[in-house]
Amino acid sequence: MRIPTVTDALRARRLIRDALPPTPLWSYPALARGPAAAVFVKHENTQPTGAFKVRGGLALLASMTAEERARGIVGYSTGNHAQSLAYAAARHGAPCTIVMPERPNPGKARAVTALGAELIEHGATFDEARPYAGRLAAERGARLVSAADEPEIVAGVATAYLELFEQAPDLDAVLVPVGGGSGAAAACLVAAAVAPDCRVVAVQSAASPAAYESWRAGRLVERPNRTAAEGLATGTGFALPQALMRAGLADFLLVDDGDIARAQGSLMRDAHTLAEGAGAAAYAALHAHPDAFAGRRVAVICTGGNAQEAEIARAIA
Ligand SMILES: *Cc1c(COP(=O)(O)O)cnc(C)c1O
Repeated sequence: MRIPTVTDALRARRLIRDALPPTPLWSYPALARGPAAAVFVKHENTQPTGAFKVRGGLALLASMTAEERARGIVGYSTGNHAQSLAYAAARHGAPCTIVMPERPNPGKARAVTALGAELIEHGATFDEARPYAGRLAAERGARLVSAADEPEIVAGVATAYLELFEQAPDLDAVLVPVGGGSGAAAACLVAAAVAPDCRVVAVQSAASPAAYESWRAGRLVERPNRTAAEGLATGTGFALPQALMRAGLADFLLVDDGDIARAQGSLMRDAHTLAEGAGAAAYAALHAHPDAFAGRRVAVICTGGNAQEAEIARAIA
């Protein structure tokens, strides 16, 4: 598999620039930062689909040929990757089918069908939806889009980090929540080129630690997948992001789902920000591992805001 470079990220920026303006980066006086010197929140939750993944979907569709687009795409996702593909397919006039695990987040499912994609529910988890999507794509002659092993998607996601390091050139660390790892991989490839002194730190839920364990082991491993944070809920490591993370990550931290819910509450109260669980995980890590960030200028990526009502109620309680 081809490993994307910062040149690919710059090309992706040209491809998606007209569709997506830069997202804001703010610091908030009331938002607790522990011993860190400063905390900035990168608001990917303000994307039109409510999550950073739309950058990758748009970059992927824009880089396909007209003939490939006409054959359509098939994706599998717990929600935000699905919305990204459905959004990009609609913009490019390509047919799109999404396989979600049964009982998906209803808001994410509604958004996918509202964007005109076909939605199929299959399997109990992401890891069961995945092979079914593969069979469907083969039957239909459509392009199967992986959740993370896609150079164009990683290059598209990397545009968030081109923006970040322009908005805050003097960061000591950036915390990125990980499911498949496209976001953290993208951060690694951009930081290496434009902000080599900034440490890229990945964050995953201890209830779904496959990417964390894969990175620690130096090979792809499977692990139980039990987090309530959909964006972090994968049971295996992915080859492409793991290769980039192996070269570029300074550290990889775990948080538990309770830390995440508390972080969601703080972001709502003190940053006026609705984060879904995955979107609050980076901020949660700042508090779960305060010593790692003492005296540092830190950015946390609020990767998404597609929270369900019950999740919002829990975070407030
Ligand atoms: C997908 C997702 C993540 C994890 O991103 P990966 O690129 O899969 O590691 C984090 N937060 C949100 C909101 C997501 O949708």
